[in-house]
Parts: sequence; C-alpha cells; structure tokens
Amino acid sequence: MREIGHFIGGEHVAGTSGRTAGVFNPATGEVQAKVSLASVSEIRAAVENAKAAQPKWAATNPQRRARVFFKFVELLNKHMDELAELLSQEHGKTVEDSKGDIVRGLEVCEFVCGIPHLQKGEFTEGAGPAIDMYSMRQPVGIGAGITPFNFPAMIPMWMFAPAIACGNAFILKPSERDPSVPLRLAELMIEAGLPAGILNVVNGDKAAVDAILTDPDIGAVTFVGSTPIARYVYGTAAMNGKRAQCFGGAKNHMIIMPDADMDQAVNALMGAGYGSAGERCMAISVAVPVGEETANLLVEKLAPKIESLRIGPYTDDKADMGPVVTKEAHARINGLIDRGVEEGAKLVVDGRGFKLQGYENGYFVGGTLFDHVTPEMDIYKTEIFGPVLSVVRAKNYEDALSLPMKHEYGNGVAIYTRDGDAARDFASRVNIGMIGINVPIPVPLAYHSFGGWKASSFGDLNQHGTDSIKFWTKTKTITARWPSGIKDGAEFVMPTMK
Ligand code: NAD
Repeated sequence: MREIGHFIGGEHVAGTSGRTAGVFNPATGEVQAKVSLASVSEIRAAVENAKAAQPKWAATNPQRRARVFFKFVELLNKHMDELAELLSQEHGKTVEDSKGDIVRGLEVCEFVCGIPHLQKGEFTEGAGPAIDMYSMRQPVGIGAGITPFNFPAMIPMWMFAPAIACGNAFILKPSERDPSVPLRLAELMIEAGLPAGILNVVNGDKAAVDAILTDPDIGAVTFVGSTPIARYVYGTAAMNGKRAQCFGGAKNHMIIMPDADMDQAVNALMGAGYGSAGERCMAISVAVPVGEETANLLVEKLAPKIESLRIGPYTDDKADMGPVVTKEAHARINGLIDRGVEEGAKLVVDGRGFKLQGYENGYFVGGTLFDHVTPEMDIYKTEIFGPVLSVVRAKNYEDALSLPMKHEYGNGVAIYTRDGDAARDFASRVNIGMIGINVPIPVPLAYHSFGGWKASSFGDLNQHGTDSIKFWTKTKTITARWPSGIKDGAEFVMPTMK
C-alpha cells in the first residue's frame, strides 16, 4: 500500500509516528493509500527547517520573491490536468470542478506576484519639526495553515501564497482525507525556485494541530474547516499568544423574490446546491422563495432537474457531481435526511439509497429536496454539507431577510431579483460576510477578501486580498529625527504637535 509522508526541508520524508489513516477513493470505497499522521517531533522538525530558512527568505528582495510565484503560476498551468486528476481521485469531485479548485488558488498566486507593491510601507515627511515618520510591514516569521478536505488546492494556496510572498516560512497541515495535491504543490514551489524549508507540508490529525497550536516558534495560524474546530483553534492559538484567523461552517440562503427570472434562479440553485455534491462552504443549502406562487413554481421547476442530475465517478466527464468524501459523511447526510422526514419537512426528491451500477460501495448520495422546512428544524439549523437543498417559504421580503439574519452562520447569501432597491436594501442590512446579487456563489476574487461573519469566522482579518498581507505581516512604525533638528536641553512634557 502506498504510504504518503510529509514534505520537510524541501524533501519528501516518511512518517515516523507509526500512526496512519486511510485515503479512500470515494467513488469505490477502496483504500488507495495510507497517510502518515505526524507526532509533535515531526511538527518540530518542520519548524526547525522553517526557522533556519526564514531569515534569508525575508531578506530576499520582494521582486525575487514575486518571481517564484510568476514561475509557480506557469507550473500550475503546465500541470493542470495532472493536478486535477490527482485531486479528483482523493476528493471525488469531477475533474472540471477540480480545475476550478486549482484555478481559484492560482489566482491568489497571481495576486501575490504584486508583493513589491502590496508590502510597501507608508511615509510622512515632516510629521513634526524635522521629524519623519514611516512604517514597514515585516513578516510574522513562521506561519501555519490547517485546511479542510473540500478544497485541497485552493485553500492551501490561499494560505501559503500570501504568507510566503510576505517573507514568512510556512507549515501546512492539510486534510488527512486528500493529502496528495498539497504535497505536489510543495514540490512545484521548489521547482519554481522557493528555497527549501520555506514551505513544509506535515500530514496529520488533532495531534499535529495541537503541536502547531502550542509550538513557541509559530507566530500565526490560519484555519479553515468546521465551526467547532475553528472555535477551538482560534481560542487555543490566542491562548498561546499567536495571531489567528479561523474560518468555519456555513448555511447559505438564497432569497428568490417574486420578480426574479425563475429559470435563472433555478439554474443557479442547481449549480450552487448540487455542484461538488454540496461540499462547498459557499454552497446554497436553503432556498427562500417569497410568496406562495413563487414557492410553488420554484419547487415545480427544481424537482425534475434534481431527479435528472447525472451523478458519477470523477472519470465520468459528463457527471454533474460525484460522491461525498467519506463513508462517515455518507452516513451523516443520510441520517440528516431521515431526521428531516421525522421533523415533518416534505421530502420532494429523496437521494437516500442512490446506487450507481459498478460503484455500489461508493459514497454517492442522490440530489435531495425538502420543501416546507421551518427554522426550528435540525435540517435547517445544521450544516449538512451534502447535496440537500431545503426550501423555507417566506411570506414577504422582511420575513425572508430575517432568516439569514437570525441564522447562527454568516458566510454567504444571495438574492435573486430584478428590483435594484430590494437588492440594495438587502446588501446593506443583511449580517453576512459575502453577498450575491443574482450571483449564487459570491466568492470574491483574489484581490478582494474572503470571509464570513458570525459563527463562520473567528478573527478580524479575511483571507486573500489586502487583508492577507496585513495578517501575514507585522507593522513597525519609525519616528526619525536627525541631530540638526534636535534642540538643546531635555524635554519633560509629553511631546504634542500643538
Ligand atoms: P474539519 O473541521 O473536520 O477539518 C478541518 C481541519 O481540522 C483538518 O485539517 C482536520 O485534520 C483538522 N481537525 C479535525 N478535527 C480536529 C480536532 N478535533 N482538533 C484539531 N484539528 C482537527 O472540516 P472538514 O470536514 O475537513 O471540512 C468541511 C468544513 O469546512 C465545513 O464545515 C465547511 O463549511 C468548512 N469550510 C469553510 C470554509 C470557509 O472559508 N469558511 C471553506 C471551506 C470549508
């Protein structure tokens, strides 16, 4: 059985902890490899390598740091097919969808090619008598990133690209479900000219995460995953004196106003609800039609489309979606569909028991649609993270707006309407981080920043965009005066500029 180890100091190294986890093919249920689960000493080895390499990297001028990313982007494009295939093998999503995963990461690498400009400080000449004041953005030192299974290319790149471009060394702890793409990305970074030790990939589970959170040399931690773990990582990192940004789960609503183009709204819901088998933190899992007529029409149009979804392994290039990631996820999603039925929601399309000929042991769940879901139900409150869409019928616009407003999560939300006033009011009032107006999955591009509100995010700076440069640097402000500007004698009062 193939054993997947770590990438430390620019080289592949075998795991030494003696603990491993299976990496499955979600379409067949077969174990295809074993991934090593790191112990404290393996995290420590990565930190030692990072510590040795980081000062020289930080002192490398920003144009040279940028050139590594120019080259890396070229390599990502060159190896796109190979990376997408590798990603789909372990995640299960379609190859086209895997390419999207890689490209949305690549775009952040393109963004950080502008690091000479992005990392510039500020300067004020004559802030006081003969006094100049300036600030510089210096790297934090060693950063670490802990990533979820659902975007094994994009999220690692969202993390390591700005961190490394700013002059930090980085330790990536990917999801143990699909560890191969992050390791390949590290190899390509070396090929692009990154010095050894600046990007280390250490596979593992809670033990590796805890070793990162308590390591005295790691200055900043970025996390993406489920909310309970995001909360834990944020609290533990902060208690250990680290800067932290932690992104959690979601329950994204889409409001469909009576004046919306219904065909556009239905197509949007199909892609946003069922693409990647619903395993996206920006997937739409709740549709909120306004008015009974809108609701009836929506359900009538959605149901046949969901029934005819093409579900298949990643090798089926016509598949709309693949299996879910693990046996446990499969059981959990089916259990939540059972729960919805028990709670009294109307199951319009039932994806339980979906079987694909030749792939009977795969983790496939059919597209599922619930109608008449209410806010008290568990299927409304819980992030299902599968191909299950709930319709919550709203009487009017205010009723619809109040649903995402009162929900625990606040990652993304969308409104479908032709009414500019309604859209503007919605964007202004809703307490959610990312808003789509006739856009179902409003993931901001690399030069804006990504992050939710409420239980979807802990910490005050978002991912990518200029926020990421702030997160990965510390500001130092210098106040300077030269001897010709200094008056004789001691000054005892607080200096002011009056
Ligand atoms: P997860 O929380 O199970 O795992 C995320 C990471 O945490 C993994 O690297 C895992 O090894 C580690 N981990 C798991 N249990 C841990 C523990 N007890 N202590 C310390 N570390 C632990 O999440 P997942 O199932 O891999 O990913 C799906 C979740 O990620 C969903 O909730 C989804 O909404 C969320 N997500 C959020 C965003 C966002 O930007 N907000 C993006 C993608 C995914």
